[in-house]
Amino acid sequence: MKPNNEDLSYIINHLGEDHASYFNAIAPPIVQTSNFRFETVEDMRTAFKDEMSSYIYSRGVNPTVDMLRKKLAALDSAEDALVFNSGAAAVFAGVLANVQSGDHILSVHHPYSWTVHTFDQILKRFGVTVTYADGTDTDKFLSHVQSNTKLIFLESPNSWFLDIQDLEAIGSFAKKKGIVTMIDNTYCTPLYQRPYELCIDLVMQTATKYIGGHSDTLGGVLTGSKQMMEKIFKSEYLAIGSGIQPMNAWLLLRGLRTLPARLDRIDHSTKKVLAFLKEQHKVERIIFPHDPSFPQYELAKKQMKKAFGLISFYIKVQKLEEIEQFCNGMKTFRMAVSWGGHESLIIPKCAGMERAAFNPQEPVHRLIRLYIGLEDADFLIQDLADGFNGIGSL
Ligand SMILES: *Cc1c(COP(=O)(O)O)cnc(C)c1O
Repeated sequence: MKPNNEDLSYIINHLGEDHASYFNAIAPPIVQTSNFRFETVEDMRTAFKDEMSSYIYSRGVNPTVDMLRKKLAALDSAEDALVFNSGAAAVFAGVLANVQSGDHILSVHHPYSWTVHTFDQILKRFGVTVTYADGTDTDKFLSHVQSNTKLIFLESPNSWFLDIQDLEAIGSFAKKKGIVTMIDNTYCTPLYQRPYELCIDLVMQTATKYIGGHSDTLGGVLTGSKQMMEKIFKSEYLAIGSGIQPMNAWLLLRGLRTLPARLDRIDHSTKKVLAFLKEQHKVERIIFPHDPSFPQYELAKKQMKKAFGLISFYIKVQKLEEIEQFCNGMKTFRMAVSWGGHESLIIPKCAGMERAAFNPQEPVHRLIRLYIGLEDADFLIQDLADGFNGIGSL
């Protein structure tokens, strides 16, 4: 099933909701319980035979989480989903389930920082090797596949440089070779990029960002085939116990109700802010996948229905203090990590480095990332305008 807009409304507002079973309440219940009782030994026996669809114990399946699980699987057109307590937990489980000692992983360079930690610090201890390669050139990227490569890890776009990969080309190559492909699809959400339909086996997204949408909960999602989800459920999901808690699942269900409306507004505001940035002489270069200046513009147009929310740009200054003044002075944009919430954010790359290491000749040191939230676009633009006007007064 390829959800069109009607399907999207059905999935978000109706799928998996059985009001009669909870007093006809419109809002789903938060089933805050660790365990579930059985009438008979035979009932219990039957449940034990199918733990993935039975209410036994909430480390496994819980009704509130299950409602979310059904909706998220449908949004990706996948057979099933698993919902985790964070995006990092979802990455960890999805990767761990698909490798063993002696295996090799080919990953795009610069994936999310804790994905790198999982690869370099944890898996390394168990004899799993990782090669990072630029995913913007498909042939070059795939030339790093080895005879023991079991997993190709993608993140498209990634969160600072917004690099993308040709999902269909990589997915179909891997399928022929029997290599599992996994993607971090947090940027686009299932609304605007559907990797499972482009031959990718395992789709991860951080629900902390757009699904939650209010910066009040963490969550992570994996979707894929029934077989893949069962494999992960029966090992990593149950053994690590990193499934999402009912209250947080409920917050994500609530976030989902307004996801299309929020993304529409963010998309609209992003375009306005982008147009403003393009006219600023203190902006050296903008990184935005659906802008014609983006090196992979054609591919971005082909595989991502929309680009929105995150804009990175190189600010044209000589001094670190100028970047600090620009960021410190923001009144509407808040300086914080993460994104996807109601609030607009700013983060400069130089916050992650020692002051003495700053070199204006290195463009990356002057990189700033904006996240466009739900405030009025003109309000955001005024904040940026004040910031640009202040540069040079030092
Ligand atoms: C935030 C983020 C994660 C991690 O998600 P958490 O919910 O914070 O664990 C992973 N990938 C991307 C692209 C992210 O932006």
